[in-house]
This record gives sequence, C-alpha cells and structure tokens, in this order.
Amino acid sequence: MSIFQKIIDGEMPADIVYNDDEVCAFKDISPKAPVHILVIPKKPIKSLSDMSSDDIQLMGTLLFRAKQIAAEQGLTDYRLVTNNGAQAGQSVYHIHFHILGGRPMGWPPG
Ligand code: 5GP
Repeated sequence: MSIFQKIIDGEMPADIVYNDDEVCAFKDISPKAPVHILVIPKKPIKSLSDMSSDDIQLMGTLLFRAKQIAAEQGLTDYRLVTNNGAQAGQSVYHIHFHILGGRPMGWPPG
C-alpha cells in the first residue's frame, strides 16, 4: 500500500486542502515551491502509464480540480507536473499531479 493510500484512508496525517469522493489534495511534505500541493485520484492508479481508457473521465476531473485548487491558493501562474517512472523522478506509485507555484519556474526542468 502506498503512502498516499494511507493518507486517503486517514491512517497517515496530511494537510488536506481538498477532498471529495474521487479526488484528494494535500500539501507536499517536502515543498519545492512556496505552494506545493499534490492532487490525487482516490482510485489507486500507479502512474500515468497505468491509466486506462476507463480512467479518462476521472483524469479530466483531476485536472479540473487541480485548476480549481490552484485558483483557491491564489495562483494564476503555476506548473502542473506528473513524474512518470523512476527516471522521471517518481517516488510514490499512486498517480499524482504536483501543483507548484509562488515563485518563477525555470525551463527546462532538470
Ligand atoms: P514524486 O516524486 O512521486 O513525483 O512525488 C512524490 C511527492 O510526495 C514528493 O514531492 C514527496 O515530497 C511527497 N511525499 C512523500 N511522502 C509524503 C507524505 O507522507 N506526505 C506528504 N504530504 N507528501 C509526501
């Protein structure tokens, strides 16, 4: 079971900023920007590579919630990132979008 599943199940504390039947969002424990929020589906999809066509509507919902949460956090400019696989920087295998904002962002990312 991933650490994010434990947060969904209430077995692990987190600073939750959004929660409904399908989506949960909470502050990253090790923030890389003044605002760093993780947006996850409650369905335990491991990574973008594991998304199926059954998940298209859910992932659209996730994207919509992410933009709402970013706005609620006062962000107009921000980066939305998913790391797919270890070499891309994925460390938790429950799909998530990072909302990163509150400072200028370099490009390309490292
Ligand atoms: P990834 O590296 O998989 O793209 O992103 C995982 C993120 O989860 C990292 O930014 C990391 O700081 C965050 N993280 C790992 N464990 C916890 C935790 O227990 N609580 C919270 N809130 N964030 C976590």
